[in-house]
Amino acid sequence: MTRILHRSIGVALPHAASAQGVYITDTMGRRYLDGSGGAAVTSVGHAHPEVLAAMRSQIDNLCYAHTSFFTTDAAEELAEKLVDLAPEGLDYVYLVSGGSEAVEAALKMARQYFVEINQPQRRHIIARRQSYHGNTIGALATGGNAMRRQQFQPILPETHHVSPCYAYRDKGIDETPEAYAARLADELEAKILELGPDEVMAFVAEPVVGATLGAVASEADYFKRVRAICDKYGVLLILDEVMCGMGRTGTVFACEQDGVTPDIVTIAKGLGGGYQPIGAVMLSASIYASFANGSGLFQHGHTYLGHPVAAAAANKVVEIIARPETLANVNAMGARLQSGLEAALGAFPYVGDIRGRGLFRGIEIVADRESKVPFDPARKLHAKIKRQAMARGLVSYPMGGTIDGINGDHILLAPPYIIEASEIDLIIERIAESIDAAIAE
Ligand code: PLP
Repeated sequence: MTRILHRSIGVALPHAASAQGVYITDTMGRRYLDGSGGAAVTSVGHAHPEVLAAMRSQIDNLCYAHTSFFTTDAAEELAEKLVDLAPEGLDYVYLVSGGSEAVEAALKMARQYFVEINQPQRRHIIARRQSYHGNTIGALATGGNAMRRQQFQPILPETHHVSPCYAYRDKGIDETPEAYAARLADELEAKILELGPDEVMAFVAEPVVGATLGAVASEADYFKRVRAICDKYGVLLILDEVMCGMGRTGTVFACEQDGVTPDIVTIAKGLGGGYQPIGAVMLSASIYASFANGSGLFQHGHTYLGHPVAAAAANKVVEIIARPETLANVNAMGARLQSGLEAALGAFPYVGDIRGRGLFRGIEIVADRESKVPFDPARKLHAKIKRQAMARGLVSYPMGGTIDGINGDHILLAPPYIIEASEIDLIIERIAESIDAAIAE
């Protein structure tokens, strides 16, 4: 009997009792290898002594001070650190409490920027189908995932969507990655022209798509082309790195690998590493200047912005992420995960694609490899894989259902950055067994 409205009602969940490194232990003493870091949250591992010490020290001194009245050393230091690590051009930080809040703030920043610079007609947001940007109304409207939007559609503000960069399904057999990227960029340009180039406010995209597709990175120079089109029409580029940022893909910011700097970037999940709820929006000096020289105020706010304990935790998490040995491990273990999955599942008749960057890897399950036809969504294969994996002591992040006509099942793997080779091998062994068992059900 539970008094909590859990996401899935009627499913008995184990009670997590403790966690250490890459393992979570429940109240029955069962150990689970955290193969997906929850939902790609746990970045530096559970119970990292340095993060715990930083939080304790903050708690002993100050737990809360409202940002209308005070700033704190913890928040200021965190902002400084993030600006130091970010691609050049992201000079200011707005601290929030999670991913959806970060996306909401980013959208409002974009809108206010155009009001401040006297272009109030700019209001359209373009994002991509099969994307996820959060569950609050504005963020949900921005995301293009049909399944998540479906029943809320009538209350969502209008957003426009173009195709994602999803080569496994959309790139023509004879099409080069460059031609594919150019085709998608043309589609974005056509959408901007259709809506009216001086009425479009922002284009929003995840550099590596997480929650809806399972670690799908872009092809060739896709984001460079997108950046050029945004610049051509004065549209802001907002990159959502809530899931793929903060070292997850092998660089602190995922967009570093795409060679672009957005006007605004959102980060969360790995930033707090699960120690505290925290997110951030980073913005360009020109957006900041439009507020500073205009109304002198960003017309937004939440009670827990820049929470000092969350900032202290994130400060230490970011410091650990930025250490060369941490990112080196993400890259080495990510490569091991990719090649291990290919070796274990490559000949599997139901594995269509294995992909990703760093410790952000996705597996796409199909009923037929040749035609790439997915399984009937009514089978809920992704849910079965999750259950089979939990029974084997593995946390994985499955997704599935009807997504714009593609009924796909995917599994996301995103273990903590401190994972070791033997633990990577265990993930591979357990996920292969789980897929097998789920299909046999
Ligand atoms: N943006 C992206 C890319 C995400 O993957 C998520 C969550 O999965 C969000 C935003 C929303 O973050 P939160 O769940 O912290 O509100």
